[in-house]
Amino acid sequence: MTYRGRFAPSPTGPLHFGSLVSALASWLDARAHGGAWLVRIEDIDGPRTVPGAAEDILSTLERFGMRADEPPVWQSHRIARYQEALEQLQAAGLVYPCGCTRKEIADSLLHAHARNTTLAYPGTCRSGLHGKPARAWRLRVPDGDTAVITFEDRWQGTQTQNLATEVGDFVLKRADDQWAYQLAVVVDDTDAGMTHIVRGADLMDSTARQIYLQHCLGVPTPSYLHVPVVTNDQGEKLSKQNGATALGNERPLDTLIAAAKHLGLELDCAEPSSLENFHAAATAAWAHRMSRKDM
Ligand code: GLU
Repeated sequence: MTYRGRFAPSPTGPLHFGSLVSALASWLDARAHGGAWLVRIEDIDGPRTVPGAAEDILSTLERFGMRADEPPVWQSHRIARYQEALEQLQAAGLVYPCGCTRKEIADSLLHAHARNTTLAYPGTCRSGLHGKPARAWRLRVPDGDTAVITFEDRWQGTQTQNLATEVGDFVLKRADDQWAYQLAVVVDDTDAGMTHIVRGADLMDSTARQIYLQHCLGVPTPSYLHVPVVTNDQGEKLSKQNGATALGNERPLDTLIAAAKHLGLELDCAEPSSLENFHAAATAAWAHRMSRKDM
């Protein structure tokens, strides 16, 4: 197998320390495996995309010494592939149009919550639109035992999610005509031949959905590794929404050393003097850690 991994930022703002940690982890894993490392700009969510942010992220990665082995892929150029995947699922009878508004779903979930049942989409439109106009496309998840997806995360261990009770039929194309992250990421990772996904643990909850989609599309499942997310003083994930600051121009080495520390890496040289020295020491430390944990 030829290792292929990636970093897939959403250009909703500049890179911050939390996203640097994910980028570094995916870069080190690819280097430790002697594999290829790619960058994909996830600019599929039109309303959230900030003009100029993608270019800013790419130049920041460069400044931190992380160079992709192939030109970046832009999701906004790949719409035709998402449409093809949806049509494949439509032909297989695995998706259905949904006419529920957010409010209707929230109301029915509130009701379900009051009854102490789960918060999964209740499947209102499974049997038809009940006279409502089609808004979104949902993938039908299985019932019973086949709804349980189990996978081995290389960092976090065995993970299990019951798609029927914890998620419900999920959206592939949104009511605002935007492609959902779950579909785009699966199609893109497959088309790029990704063998290893390394990303932040905030995306762990999406992984079972992505594995199920891979089964539906008849494509291989890569291996997954989710690194611990960086949190602020309130214990919330660092994000642009809660004020994470952009990485400054100065001292990339200090920032990289802090990111390696967050990943629990013990660098041989406490004070790497250049980006090259840092990347060599951090790659060796990552490889060592993986071999110890048999990952
Ligand atoms: N674009 C996603 C994000 O920035 C990451 C997607 C992924 O790595 O699967 O959170």
